[in-house]
Amino acid sequence: MSKVEAKNVWKIYPRGNVVAVQDLTFTCNHGEFLAILGPSGGGKSSTLRMLAGLEEISRGEILFDGKVVNHLGPAERNVALAFESYALYYRLNVYENIAFPLRARGMKGKEVDEKVRFIADMLELGPYLKKLPGSLAGGIQQRISLARALVRRPNVTLLDEPLSHMDQRVRHEIRARIRHLHDELGLTTIYVTHDQAEAISLCDRLLIINEGRLQQIGTVEEVWNRPANKFVAYFIGEPTMNFIPGKVETVQQVVILTSSGKRAFSFEPHTLPEQYVGAEVTIGVRPQQIEVSREGNRTNTIPGTVKIVEFQGDRTVLTVELDDLAGSEVKAVVSAQERYVEGETVWFYFAPSIIRLFEEERLIL
Ligand code: ADP
Ligand code: MG
Repeated sequence: MSKVEAKNVWKIYPRGNVVAVQDLTFTCNHGEFLAILGPSGGGKSSTLRMLAGLEEISRGEILFDGKVVNHLGPAERNVALAFESYALYYRLNVYENIAFPLRARGMKGKEVDEKVRFIADMLELGPYLKKLPGSLAGGIQQRISLARALVRRPNVTLLDEPLSHMDQRVRHEIRARIRHLHDELGLTTIYVTHDQAEAISLCDRLLIINEGRLQQIGTVEEVWNRPANKFVAYFIGEPTMNFIPGKVETVQQVVILTSSGKRAFSFEPHTLPEQYVGAEVTIGVRPQQIEVSREGNRTNTIPGTVKIVEFQGDRTVLTVELDDLAGSEVKAVVSAQERYVEGETVWFYFAPSIIRLFEEERLIL
């Protein structure tokens, strides 16, 4: 078993009095692949280093399998680590670097050899085993660091941007192998990245952190469909979610106030509490969920003029200015087969189920 819990954890760096992590509480379950995602400076690495036992916890508790580990170092916590900086042993060859955590635990001979060769094979390091790491490219050194982390079965595997120095092709390949190893070896993995595509492709659940604060934790589907706040809504998804100012008209209807009056959008059968009627809100709609057509003869539609058509190979992104809301641009994703031209009028249909509403920052629908 290796369940990891953070309870009201804070990190305050005395130097500069920086509050890097604030009151962070979450659980990573046994066997889970949890991705910690957030912008640079958000507190991801500080969190991971506290989990690893490399950084003192200012306040709060970290528990492994229900036991507080605050006072334990990395070895006692039995965690495997790989960071953006590789921290390899430059006087040992690649083979011995990977073998190091096994030998440190008293493993010998054939068992070491089997494990090292298995992981080296997985991460395409076979040709380099006899070389010294210093002579190899950054991307390869990072793979060695990753191999060293993945060679054994620790309580928890902690990876901080472990693919950042690899080129695009290698990165895609290696990330698939990391996930495969996680499943194969039954690991519990916490993986830090600022790259949402990487996080989404790897994880069981996402933890989103910004300015040291937990924004949301959930499956990709939960976070994508029901972002807890506008930060998450904007941070997850490409192109980003559209935000349009609106006003709650009834418990099942929101309106956009336009130059020509009101345009109503129903979110029936969903219902808001009565207290929100009259509230100024932000309507959130995902570009991928908008239905675009050349006719507007139904409810929940709004017309606009196509400003930009971006053909992206597998899809086309339209940037449309709403006709009766000057300066308001909305993006929609359509299939690559559909042909739209700049200047033409299109109608956006917002199905009731895709409408999200935010009051201030917080999701209310
Ligand atoms: P991330 O990994 O998400 O980019 P970090 O955890 O590295 O974020 O940093 C969070 C904040 O803490 C940043 O403002 C960063 O400058 C600050 N910070 C990180 N390490 C230290 C340190 N050793 N001393 C002082 N401030 C630090
Ligand atoms: Mg970092």
